[in-house]
Amino acid sequence: MSDRYQGFASSPIGRLVVKNLGLPNPTALERWHDGAPLVDGLVVLGGDGRLAGSLCSVLDGLGVASATTLDDGARAKALVFDATGITDTAGLVALQEFFTPLMRRLESCPRVVVLGTPPEQRTGSERIAQRALEGFTRSLGKEVGRGGTVQLVYVAPAADGAIASTLAFLLSPKSAYVSGQVVRIGAHGGATTDTVDDWSRPLAGRVALVTGASRGIGEEIARVLHRDGVTVVGVDVPQAASELQTLMAELDGDHLVLDITAPDAPQRIAHHLREHHGGVDVVVHNAGITRDKKLANMAEDRWRSVVAVNLTAPELITRELLDAGVVNAGGRIVGVASIAGIAGNVGQTNYATSKAGVIGLVESLRDELTDGITVNAVAPGFIITQMTAAVPFATREVGQRLNAMAQGGLPVDVAETIAWFASPGSGAVNGNVVRVCGQMMLGA
Ligand code: NAD
Repeated sequence: MSDRYQGFASSPIGRLVVKNLGLPNPTALERWHDGAPLVDGLVVLGGDGRLAGSLCSVLDGLGVASATTLDDGARAKALVFDATGITDTAGLVALQEFFTPLMRRLESCPRVVVLGTPPEQRTGSERIAQRALEGFTRSLGKEVGRGGTVQLVYVAPAADGAIASTLAFLLSPKSAYVSGQVVRIGAHGGATTDTVDDWSRPLAGRVALVTGASRGIGEEIARVLHRDGVTVVGVDVPQAASELQTLMAELDGDHLVLDITAPDAPQRIAHHLREHHGGVDVVVHNAGITRDKKLANMAEDRWRSVVAVNLTAPELITRELLDAGVVNAGGRIVGVASIAGIAGNVGQTNYATSKAGVIGLVESLRDELTDGITVNAVAPGFIITQMTAAVPFATREVGQRLNAMAQGGLPVDVAETIAWFASPGSGAVNGNVVRVCGQMMLGA
């Protein structure tokens, strides 16, 4: 399941071949490990808006060093630009003035975050200028290279005090495979401040339900949430029961063996969570299947099973958990969509329908939830797992290269994104669909 091309490209002979033939040359991405600093280097701050005054102290609270200038000969690990003060299109030149001199002074795997105001909360010239930021960040994401990432974070004024957990994620190696994204904070209600007691175990004492937890992305979600202090209740089908039990024993978690499409699954899950854990704080709808065929050859059972597992089950389970009051205040509901649900894919009308529906689930719930409960989704691109190992070689090779990082992502990249949504500090992060795709060329 490893990326053989990347291994070849980083070998002595491979480096020569890649250089001479102009082939993609993927940078080995930095990933976070326990005990590592969130940002291994200096963050340079720029811009002049509502948030500029507090950025330094927010980063200080995260143990991250920042400055507004860069000494001669020094390099920056990350750049954060407050663009909330840009109120007309002439003001957009401030982006060029700040970024151009710094672009050649970045360390490898750099992070760039631009902060703006949700355009829909503004009118006239300011709305136009704020909307323009999207083109800037999406293009810079494709230019930055060397494993760098670039994001735009639209912060609603009511959520100005709730940006720390998002900066912690987007500036750290936890967001290794997330780039070119537009995140909205506070645009759909939610908390106005961050409430994290211990950044090293932000989810201590919480309970998470993770479906499809026995392997692949689900296994990694369970591991990362456990690392952050969660008691994980893993769910998987009877065929995967022994792997599930072994993993949950290792993580001091709990397990529930069932098919999430069974008619009584929502009630059984709700009952189990209430009786054994007193409720649930984080719900991750990860279980998913593919049954690819072009629509002309699509048998009904392929259509039905994919929609049932990937979409109807998450919808019904969420509804039951909410209606039965099993989701605790401050709860987090997380869907797992897919790039296919955004861009579409040959042979995947069933799968893409189900995954676009997961985005619909986020959109339908985000303005309805109360008690500080949020709903968000990840949309993974090409993540190296058993699911993608089944993809034919040529398609797999192209799928892995067609992104700004020229490589596939790892399950941990999806898991870290979910851990950010799940954090108690992410109460204002509501209604987002964040792609974990290395800024794939498809669909955006
Ligand atoms: P995987 O096949 O390795 O794991 C899926 C897990 O879900 C398995 O443990 C499986 O037993 C479980 N599952 C399937 N049907 C179930 C059911 N009816 N009830 C309970 N559990 C069930 O897949 P993965 O690659 O780890 O994918 C995880 C999620 O990420 C899926 O929703 C998938 O669609 C999504 N995704 C994956 C990729 C990728 O590149 N791997 C890309 C986009 C989205």
